[in-house]
Amino acid sequence: MDSDQYQIIRNKLAISSEIIITTHYNPDGDAIGSSLALYHFLLGLKCKVSVIVPNGYPAFLKWLPGNKNINIYEGNEVFCDALIMRADIIFCLDYNALSRVKLFSDKLLVSKATKILIDHHVDQSNEFDFIHSRISVSSTCELLFEFMTGLGYDNQINKEIAECLYVGIMTDTGSFSYACNYSQTYEITASLIKQGIDAEQIHRSVYDTYSENRMRLLGYCLSDRLVVNLKYKTAYIWLTLNDLVRFNHQVGDTEGVVNYALSIEGVTLAALFTEQNDRIRISFRSKGDFSVNELAHKHFVGGGHKNASGGDSFLGIVETLKKFEGLLPIYFG
Ligand code: 5GP
Ligand code: MN
Repeated sequence: MDSDQYQIIRNKLAISSEIIITTHYNPDGDAIGSSLALYHFLLGLKCKVSVIVPNGYPAFLKWLPGNKNINIYEGNEVFCDALIMRADIIFCLDYNALSRVKLFSDKLLVSKATKILIDHHVDQSNEFDFIHSRISVSSTCELLFEFMTGLGYDNQINKEIAECLYVGIMTDTGSFSYACNYSQTYEITASLIKQGIDAEQIHRSVYDTYSENRMRLLGYCLSDRLVVNLKYKTAYIWLTLNDLVRFNHQVGDTEGVVNYALSIEGVTLAALFTEQNDRIRISFRSKGDFSVNELAHKHFVGGGHKNASGGDSFLGIVETLKKFEGLLPIYFG
């Protein structure tokens, strides 16, 4: 965004009466981290602001400062619809099209509010008034840091905001192991650390909080449900509804599981298939040039990034796996 656009946004923020911050369905660390960072930032600018997320999110994100002020749309529709109707500015964080919000996309579509997108996914739609988006950047939190400094309000970035931004950068880079091959991510991280955050404790709060069931589910995935096909450079894991019940599955328990399949030597494409009531939810990951965004978009009504995407299948689990295996010779044959 150029300096004229930042000036327009500064003016709009100064005269706005109600702002809402929104993020994508199944919010992850970057979605919740960026939403709460922006929430604290706008409160600091004396704005009236609320956060609305479509549905529940993992317990390992619930320690974040401001967590109690997040409105979950699912189950709270009337209240949230009223907030959306009144808003004159809507921030859209960590998603590239209103459809990604799922539960209240239609409400956002008809809203007359100024819509400001801050995001790092490919193929953004033209539903936004202002766009701060680059796909080469690690996370929405990194772009949000740029946005805050672009507005000229760097001095507003305090410890609470830094904690939230750190969570998004850490989770979207797998603790600085991918999507961070350039210096800016570390420069921004350094300035967050200078705010006095405890990066080690944040890491433990997000990653070292497994329940016994979650740990045993991971073990089961690797011992019983991992399929490795090195001929086609692919490994995948699949879970049925029964498996999820057996391990008392909670939101977020399968987060990161797909990365174990990808970490096998010789594997370029990894996937996790999780049976849900009405669909099979799929997480795709890849190494190097293979685009799972393209795969997810073409075959599984999804998308995301080149190396990390999601999608859905409306076939049964067996048929879905068959379809996936049938695609492998096309891509790796
Ligand atoms: P995950 O596998 O962690 O659910 O998603 C990986 C990445 O793909 C995330 O950045 C997420 O935002 C994106 N993503 C997941 N599901 C979808 C989808 O159905 N459509 C699109 N466009 N992106 C998705
Ligand atoms: Mn993200």
